[in-house]
Order: sequence, then structure tokens, then C-alpha cells
Amino acid sequence: MKKIKIIETAFRDAHQSLLATRMRTRDMLPIAEELDKVGFFSLEAWGGATFDTCIRYLNEDPWERLVELKDIVKKTPLQMLLRGQNLVGYKHYPDDVVRKFVEKSYENGIDVFRIFDALNDIRNMEMSIKVAKEQNAHVQGTISYTISPFHTIEKYVEFAKELENLECDSLTIKDMAGLISPHDTYELITTLKEETDLMINLHCHCTSGMSPISYYAACQAGVDLLDTAISPLSWGASQPPTESIVAALNNTPYDTGLDLKLLTHIKKYFEEIRKKYSSLIDPIAEKVDTDVLIYQIPGGMLSNFVSQLKQQNALDKYEEVLEEVPKVRQELGYPPLVTPTSQIVGIMAVMNVLSGERYKNVSKEVKEYIKGYYGRPPAPIDKEIAKKVIGDEKPITVRPADLLEPEFEKYKEEGEKLGIIKKEEDILTYALYPSIAPKFLRGEVEEESLKPPEKAIPQEEPSGLPTEYSVDVDGEIFDVKVLPVGYMEIEAKSNKAGNGSVIGSVISTMQGMILKLKVHKGDNIKGGDVVAVLEAMKMENDIYAPQSGVVGDVFIEEGDTVNAGDTLMVIK
Ligand code: MN
Repeated sequence: MKKIKIIETAFRDAHQSLLATRMRTRDMLPIAEELDKVGFFSLEAWGGATFDTCIRYLNEDPWERLVELKDIVKKTPLQMLLRGQNLVGYKHYPDDVVRKFVEKSYENGIDVFRIFDALNDIRNMEMSIKVAKEQNAHVQGTISYTISPFHTIEKYVEFAKELENLECDSLTIKDMAGLISPHDTYELITTLKEETDLMINLHCHCTSGMSPISYYAACQAGVDLLDTAISPLSWGASQPPTESIVAALNNTPYDTGLDLKLLTHIKKYFEEIRKKYSSLIDPIAEKVDTDVLIYQIPGGMLSNFVSQLKQQNALDKYEEVLEEVPKVRQELGYPPLVTPTSQIVGIMAVMNVLSGERYKNVSKEVKEYIKGYYGRPPAPIDKEIAKKVIGDEKPITVRPADLLEPEFEKYKEEGEKLGIIKKEEDILTYALYPSIAPKFLRGEVEEESLKPPEKAIPQEEPSGLPTEYSVDVDGEIFDVKVLPVGYMEIEAKSNKAGNGSVIGSVISTMQGMILKLKVHKGDNIKGGDVVAVLEAMKMENDIYAPQSGVVGDVFIEEGDTVNAGDTLMVIK
């Protein structure tokens, strides 16, 4: 009898999809031993967004989490999700950092590496696959699944064969948006089983509601592994429930052999966890929504959209943004939407809607994507859009990481100078997240509370910095009113108005953190100069001077958090 093996996602994808990746290590450890007894193929417990969240919000060392779990989980392999050359970050890291990271992940307890690239560009996966294979780890090559005129079964099979050539031990169909229908599941897996010798895994999110049916179709097509989440952390944007899949396959040729009673005990534990973290669950992430088949937005991204639009005081634009996403996706060559392309496409869609002109505010990441620095898009990028964003510049054709200089030693030295390196893993934490890691490694990150997030500030109540004030320019008084989006409105109060003095404010159109401040009071600048770089929604956005002039008061410093509508500086 063919046994289907189950990968339990409670410690990684399930809470990433439903609880904003906020589950604490201390809430994992008490149930880890029980999970180890079940007989799962593996426990997905690390990687993806967990690394970032640990150091950004939880004041937890992700490396320590891994070691502590490994101490308890002795039988079941621990699995991580690795974003190919992006590791657990959002950009390509040089090969030396990739090598060290994979080696250290293995050394600290990872047995199974699920490795993907958002563009299914094999060049972005080669290095991490090679190093993981060198450690004798189980390597699961991944197809980032999406639907487009360019994503055919033939293309997927071709890609699976490339992964097989790199000696991957198994293959995951990563359906991060819950798009795959039962019929397409059957066709794809049947063909993959015929054309390759790989063990096949299906990883779905329940967003469209089709996933459990697709799981059964997968069984009929000969799937070997299925990803599920213990029921209190299942459905909606997460995986199908472990107990239900185990029960559904019981006494069939696809029996998992897992003990429902043992799972019931584990379920009770996670019911309490769900209650504890309930304030983090967005109603949208819990819903079944076939709109995903139209917009193709993956589970984790939907709840991010809601919180990002709230931060920008623009929740009313939600529908508009959803409609913009497929347009942007087509124009950018149909990338599958998964980190980081989901952020790149998603935020471009947000910016297109919020700024009122498409491709007017373009993040550094979108520019680099169009220049080929993320890899080869599945289809050609719209020529006019490319021209508008990067002009006549030619995209690169080499493997993006070939252009990166080694960085490990540099971060080692810098980190040691800063006094933030206590163990080798800290160098990696710093190399991956140079802007937030120092604060964490110094122990200055406070653990976020579990209270509901602050209510979005209504549009009429500007927050933080002033939005209306009088300004004295060389003896002339101007009343300045800052508009929510865009630049400014000036009313001359002085009788001498109109003698040529013009002032302007630089306004943040988004909530975010000031990553770089590029000008100082007194600097002469030209309209269009970059005055600051704002990190919003994990993307770097240049902020431009609306006009030429001299920099007046600067209200921000690097590291400051600003809101949409805040005045960052004045230009005279
Ligand atoms: Mn997933």
C-alpha cells in the first residue's frame, strides 16, 4: 500500500500565513516533543519570513530557535524554506554568504532544504542546492506555481528536469496562492511522475477553497508528500488541515498511517495558541476567496496588503489595488507571486493606485527587477513600461549573483568593529539584514506585544509632524498646507508675494522608515534629486525633491519612522 507522507507546517508557513509569522519559540517548544512522535515526513519549522520576524519584532534569535527545536525534535527531520539566492531575505546575496548560510543552517539542525526561486530561474537556485547537497541534506527543489499563458505543463516539466539534474531529492509544487485546480493538479503530477524520478510534494494554500480536492487529485496522480497544518492553524490563507487529510486518506491506497488521536491532543494545544494570537488574525486571511483566481495574490500577501493599506490610510483603495495587481504582473512578464516578486508587484500596484499615475513612483526593487537583477522573468516585460522606468538601459543577461562581490568577510570585520558579533551566525544575521540586525544584536529590540495593532489614523487627523504651518522666508510669511499625497499648496500672505521666493515641502506619501538621508540643511539641490530613501513595505523607495532650491529645515533622521503625509523637509 502506498503511504502518503505528511509535512506539518505549524511552525513556519501556518503561522506565517495566519498569524503574521509571530509565533514565539516559547510557544513552540512545549508541543515539539508531541509533534516529533507523530511520524511526519518533516516539520517545516524555519526559514521563509520567520528569520526576519524574529529579529525585527520578537527579539528572538532565529538561530537559537533552531537549536532549541532540534534539541527536542530528535526523530523528525526539520525543514526550512530557502529563497534560493535570496536565502531568508529579499535580495540576492553573494555566493560566499549563501554558502555560509546554508552550511550554518545545516549545522544548527536543518535536515530538509526546500529551495525556490520566485522566477523559477534555476541560476538563482544552483548555489544553495549545491551547498545543501554537499552537506548531505535532503534537497527539495521547488516549482513556484502560477497560471499564465507562459506557464505550461511542458515548461514546468522542463524546469523539474533541470532540478533533477542538480540532484534534488524531491520536488515541491509550491502553490502559494492556492490557484491549482484538481484537474490541473492531476495533469501536472501525472506528467511529472512520468517524466522524472523525483518524489513529488504538493504545497497549497486554501485561499480559493480548492486545495483539499486538489490534494485528493494529487494522491490519485501519485503524489508522495503533502503539506498540511494542524487544524487550528489551517484553512484560509494557510494549508489544508492535517487531521482532515489524514482522516480523508485513512483506509485508502493513500493512507498516511498517522494517528488521529495523537493529532487531536496536539490540536488542543494549538487551539490555545490560536486564541493567544487571535488579535493578529486578519479576517481576510481566514476567508475562502475565489477572487484569488482573478488576482492571483498569495495568502501571506493578502493580509499584508490590508495592514499596509491601513498604514497608508488607504484601506478604501483595497479593491482598486487588487485589480491593479494582475495588470502589473502581466506588464512585468508574469512572475509567480511569491517573496520577493509578490512584494515587488504588490507594492508597484499600491504605488500605481496611491500616486495617481502608473509607474510614477517606482521603487529601487522594481527598477532592478526590470534591469534583470532578480533573474529572467517568465515572459518579456512590457517595452513601454521598461522604457518609462529604466530608459535606454539594457537589462543584464548574466546570473545576477555573478555581479556581486563576496561580502562575508566585510560583514565579519564591520560587525566585529561594532561589537555585535558573539558567534559566527551573528555575522550572517548582520550580512542578511544590515539595517535592522545591529539593533537586534545589541539587544535593543523590544518584543512586540500581542495587543491588537494600533488603529489606522484617520485621514483628517494628521499625525506626527506638522502639516499646516506658517513659514517665514526672508521676511515673507507663507501659509503652507501640506496635502495628503503630492507636494504642497502655498498661499502667500505677505504683500510682497510674488517676488520669486518659492518654498516646497517634501512629503512622505507612504508610511515607512527613513533608511538614508541624502541632504543636509543648506544644501543646494535640483528638482528630481534623491533627498532620502524610505523603506516601506520592505522595499526601498527614493524620495525626490519636488523642485530645485536650498534645503531648509529637515525634520527627519535616519532610522525615523514616518507616516504618510508627514513633512520630511522644506526646500526654499
Ligand atoms: Mn506557502
